[in-house]
Amino acid sequence: MPQPLPHDTTFTLGLDLDGVITESPEFFSTWTHSWPGRVIVITYRQDRQKAIEDLESRNIRYDELVLVDRFDGKAAVIQDQGVHVYIDDQPEMLKNISGDCRVMLFRNEGNFDDDDSKWMLSNETGKLVC
Ligand SMILES: [Mg+2]
Repeated sequence: MPQPLPHDTTFTLGLDLDGVITESPEFFSTWTHSWPGRVIVITYRQDRQKAIEDLESRNIRYDELVLVDRFDGKAAVIQDQGVHVYIDDQPEMLKNISGDCRVMLFRNEGNFDDDDSKWMLSNETGKLVC
Protein backbone atom coordinates (compact mmCIF):
# COMPACT_ATOMS: atom_id res chain seq x y z
CA MET A 1 0.00 0.00 0.00
CA PRO A 2 1.63 3.31 -1.04
CA GLN A 3 1.98 5.82 1.77
CA PRO A 4 0.03 9.02 1.03
CA LEU A 5 1.29 12.49 1.80
CA PRO A 6 0.22 13.93 5.18
CA HIS A 7 -2.36 16.28 3.65
CA ASP A 8 -3.75 13.63 1.33
CA THR A 9 -7.49 13.41 1.87
CA THR A 10 -7.34 9.66 1.32
CA PHE A 11 -5.19 9.26 4.46
CA THR A 12 -7.42 7.26 6.80
CA LEU A 13 -7.19 7.40 10.58
CA GLY A 14 -8.61 4.61 12.72
CA LEU A 15 -9.37 5.06 16.41
CA ASP A 16 -10.52 2.84 19.24
CA LEU A 17 -13.18 4.37 21.49
CA ASP A 18 -12.80 2.96 25.00
CA GLY A 19 -9.44 3.61 26.61
CA VAL A 20 -8.33 5.86 23.73
CA ILE A 21 -10.88 8.54 22.81
CA THR A 22 -12.42 8.27 26.27
CA GLU A 23 -8.98 8.83 27.86
CA SER A 24 -8.15 12.05 26.04
CA PRO A 25 -11.32 13.39 24.43
CA GLU A 26 -10.03 16.95 23.93
CA PHE A 27 -6.94 15.70 22.11
CA PHE A 28 -8.90 13.36 19.84
CA SER A 29 -11.57 15.99 19.17
CA THR A 30 -8.89 18.40 17.96
CA TRP A 31 -7.05 15.71 16.00
CA THR A 32 -10.12 14.32 14.23
CA HIS A 33 -11.31 17.80 13.24
CA SER A 34 -7.91 18.67 11.74
CA TRP A 35 -7.33 15.28 10.09
CA PRO A 36 -7.51 15.74 6.29
CA GLY A 37 -8.87 12.29 5.45
CA ARG A 38 -11.40 9.82 6.71
CA VAL A 39 -11.76 8.96 10.39
CA ILE A 40 -13.07 5.53 11.30
CA VAL A 41 -13.89 4.60 14.87
CA ILE A 42 -13.64 0.87 15.51
CA THR A 43 -14.95 -0.34 18.82
CA TYR A 44 -15.45 -3.61 20.65
CA ARG A 45 -18.94 -2.61 21.79
CA GLN A 46 -22.44 -3.90 21.19
CA ASP A 47 -24.52 -0.76 21.75
CA ARG A 48 -24.21 1.36 18.61
CA GLN A 49 -26.43 4.19 19.83
CA LYS A 50 -24.44 4.56 23.06
CA ALA A 51 -21.22 4.67 21.04
CA ILE A 52 -22.68 7.44 18.82
CA GLU A 53 -23.74 9.40 21.89
CA ASP A 54 -20.29 9.01 23.44
CA LEU A 55 -18.61 10.27 20.26
CA GLU A 56 -21.00 13.20 19.92
CA SER A 57 -20.64 14.22 23.56
CA ARG A 58 -16.85 14.34 23.06
CA ASN A 59 -17.13 16.30 19.78
CA ILE A 60 -15.34 13.62 17.75
CA ARG A 61 -15.49 13.98 13.97
CA TYR A 62 -15.82 10.61 12.29
CA ASP A 63 -16.95 9.27 8.94
CA GLU A 64 -17.76 5.77 10.02
CA LEU A 65 -18.38 3.85 13.23
CA VAL A 66 -17.76 0.10 13.10
CA LEU A 67 -18.64 -2.27 15.94
CA VAL A 68 -16.78 -5.57 16.12
CA ASP A 69 -17.57 -8.64 18.21
CA ARG A 70 -14.23 -10.47 18.20
CA PHE A 71 -10.61 -9.53 18.92
CA ASP A 72 -9.35 -9.97 15.37
CA GLY A 73 -12.40 -8.15 14.01
CA LYS A 74 -10.60 -4.81 14.21
CA ALA A 75 -7.71 -6.05 12.06
CA ALA A 76 -10.21 -7.16 9.41
CA VAL A 77 -11.95 -3.78 9.39
CA ILE A 78 -8.60 -1.98 9.19
CA GLN A 79 -7.66 -4.11 6.18
CA ASP A 80 -11.04 -3.69 4.48
CA GLN A 81 -11.19 0.08 5.05
CA GLY A 82 -7.55 0.75 4.11
CA VAL A 83 -6.74 2.41 7.43
CA HIS A 84 -3.25 3.96 7.35
CA VAL A 85 -2.80 4.74 11.07
CA TYR A 86 -4.62 3.00 13.92
CA ILE A 87 -4.58 3.69 17.66
CA ASP A 88 -5.77 1.23 20.31
CA ASP A 89 -5.03 0.60 23.98
CA GLN A 90 -5.18 -3.19 23.85
CA PRO A 91 -2.21 -5.06 22.34
CA GLU A 92 -4.57 -7.96 21.59
CA MET A 93 -6.31 -5.73 19.06
CA LEU A 94 -3.04 -4.73 17.38
CA LYS A 95 -1.26 -8.03 16.90
CA ASN A 96 -3.05 -9.16 13.72
CA ILE A 97 -2.95 -5.83 11.91
CA SER A 98 -1.06 -5.87 8.61
CA GLY A 99 2.32 -4.14 8.42
CA ASP A 100 0.83 -1.74 5.87
CA CYS A 101 -0.95 0.05 8.70
CA ARG A 102 0.98 2.08 11.26
CA VAL A 103 -0.19 1.25 14.77
CA MET A 104 0.12 3.09 18.06
CA LEU A 105 -0.52 1.66 21.52
CA PHE A 106 -2.25 4.28 23.65
CA ARG A 107 -1.10 4.17 27.26
CA ASN A 108 -3.61 4.21 30.09
CA GLU A 109 -3.96 2.72 33.56
CA GLY A 110 -5.29 -0.50 32.06
CA ASN A 111 -2.14 -1.35 30.14
CA PHE A 112 0.62 0.42 32.07
CA ASP A 113 1.70 -0.09 35.67
CA ASP A 114 2.71 3.31 37.04
CA ASP A 115 4.24 1.76 40.17
CA ASP A 116 6.69 -0.33 38.13
CA SER A 117 6.78 1.95 35.07
CA LYS A 118 6.15 -1.09 32.89
CA TRP A 119 3.69 -2.07 30.21
CA MET A 120 1.32 -4.86 31.16
CA LEU A 121 1.40 -7.51 28.46
CA SER A 122 0.55 -11.17 28.26
CA ASN A 123 2.59 -13.96 26.69
CA GLU A 124 0.23 -13.63 23.74
CA THR A 125 1.03 -9.96 23.16
CA GLY A 126 4.50 -9.33 24.56
CA LYS A 127 7.97 -10.74 24.08
CA LEU A 128 10.90 -9.83 26.32
CA VAL A 129 14.00 -9.08 24.30
CA CYS A 130 16.65 -9.12 27.01
MG1 LIG B 1 -9.93 0.04 23.98
